[in-house]
Amino acid sequence: MNYSKSGWKLQNSYAGLPKTLYAPMEANPVASPKLVIANKELAKTLGLDPGQLDSPETLQVFAGNRFPEGSFPLAQAYAGHQFGQFTMLGDGRAILIGEQQTPDGRILDIQLKGAGITPFSRSGDGRAALGPMLREYIVSESMHALGIPTSRSLAVALTGEKIQRYAAEPGAILTRVASSHIRVGTFQFAAKYRSTEDLKALADFTINRHFPDIDGPDRYIELFRQTARRQASLIAKWQLVGFVHGVMNTDNMAISGETIDYGPCAFLDRYEESAVFSSIDAGGRYAYRNQPLIGGWNLARFAESLFPLLDDRPEKEALASLQEILQEYVKLQKQLYMTGMREKLGLFTEMPDDGQLIDELLELMHEHQADYTNTFRSLTFEDIEEPQLSNSGSFDSWLSRWKTRLQQEGRTAEEILDLMKSRNPAVIPRNHRIEAALEAALQGDYEVMEKLLAILQDPYAHSKEQQPYTAAPPPSTPPYQTYCGT
Ligand code: AMP
Ligand code: MG
Repeated sequence: MNYSKSGWKLQNSYAGLPKTLYAPMEANPVASPKLVIANKELAKTLGLDPGQLDSPETLQVFAGNRFPEGSFPLAQAYAGHQFGQFTMLGDGRAILIGEQQTPDGRILDIQLKGAGITPFSRSGDGRAALGPMLREYIVSESMHALGIPTSRSLAVALTGEKIQRYAAEPGAILTRVASSHIRVGTFQFAAKYRSTEDLKALADFTINRHFPDIDGPDRYIELFRQTARRQASLIAKWQLVGFVHGVMNTDNMAISGETIDYGPCAFLDRYEESAVFSSIDAGGRYAYRNQPLIGGWNLARFAESLFPLLDDRPEKEALASLQEILQEYVKLQKQLYMTGMREKLGLFTEMPDDGQLIDELLELMHEHQADYTNTFRSLTFEDIEEPQLSNSGSFDSWLSRWKTRLQQEGRTAEEILDLMKSRNPAVIPRNHRIEAALEAALQGDYEVMEKLLAILQDPYAHSKEQQPYTAAPPPSTPPYQTYCGT
């Protein structure tokens, strides 16, 4: 079959790495695949013909039944710290079919999640259920629209097979697209179980793929620095929109700086620093407020795995360089977060008391259980819809201090409004909306989801049709929980 007509232009440079870093895969065919959703806009940027997305040939690709020319399907080996415990992992239910060469010159991984058993499946079935794959589709596409680096979702196809979870569920495969799926855990795997040559090959590959400007004797230190910077920026962005990843294990942190592995993630509704959505995170390790800290912890594990590559210099010196970068990460993360928060409040410049102004707002939001997104949206339009806040005297006093601070900017009301509109989304993928969309989808009605996806596509539009989607869940809604590995 000639897939180049549909626009597939695959290579697989990962297969050129030492064979100890992956397992080659064969197709794991499913009997009666059916397309559920496909992303035309993303297809275009990949150089795929959007008109071919629902063709029988393309469905065979999305189902993992056939691979386009140039494909070299493989499962990547990796390890990782899961909730602090080091474990051998690897792609247990995903295969990398190849790297698409896009018309604008990018190289993007095309991965099928839920495509069957691999040598790394352990006791798992290698499959995924429809609900969680659609959930990843919705949240990842929404993250992209919010301007946050992320893996993307190209398609979800039903496999036609049932899989056993808490109950029998329809099996599905998500085709996801990412700059790469190289994780902190990929380095941990190579450092612990493979030779220094293999580790070096992985590091050189990563530099070439993600940081082609890095060169010279300090290249691995520089790899660490650039990775740390990207994580600082990524996690600041998460914090600013109230995103909780949920499982920031080292195997779920991509070196590219993209958000990957959407499992038990969720957005804050009411502002709660200790929010955790994962059913298995009883200790709150991956709570909203801990994400910057955990990012640093994961980066420290990355630094350790790079250490064998730094043996050309005195150990003390190498350690000092890595530690300095970690400190830089902490500072940069905070700085980017603070700048972002100021902008959410319409502030273009920095003043000494801004930190206090921000902290006090967050404390008030917490005290009054105010909705995170809607509070900032209300401030943007000076229309306080948060009833708890609007009835509070201390909030009035905060408002007047904020307004005085805004005056010091010397900007027009229009400039401030434009800044705030572009930093405070009207809509986020709220849990109750996702649940409603998934519930309908599981009944075979995909319209609710399609409408939700359309609404989330331009979160800073603040349009009239977004209005109904801005509502927080009713107060009676029980705390939201999501589950991993489903
Ligand atoms: P995650 O929690 O999705 O980051 O996955 C952690 C590890 O479990 C990874 O190695 C996954 O490949 C593996 N895994 C998750 N679900 C399955 C499954 N259904 N079958 C096999 N492996 C799985
Ligand atoms: Mg994972």
